Amino acid sequence: MRGCPWLHVCSFYQKQGPKNLPVSSLHKIKYCLGDFGACARHSLFQELGSQSVPDDLTPDESEKALRLLAKMKPQDTTSCDLPA
Ligand code: SF4
Repeated sequence: MRGCPWLHVCSFYQKQGPKNLPVSSLHKIKYCLGDFGACARHSLFQELGSQSVPDDLTPDESEKALRLLAKMKPQDTTSCDLPA
């Protein structure tokens, strides 16, 4: 199966249960198995590593990801080009 390279460690993708449906299922199809480069979590995985991505960050929260990135890696925020 093709998809995001972080599938095996991403808590969002690994989560199961009725509370996470159906929005998370749509996100999984849209981002995890599709355009993972547009995922806010993916960007943080790439920039900060798997230990620094909050469990409650969803793939469509790019602005929140940018704030976290600026807070944790202030010197490199200009090189981050997350989608709007
Ligand atoms: S939520 Fe984002 S980082 Fe996690 S598996 Fe899906 S696309 Fe990858």
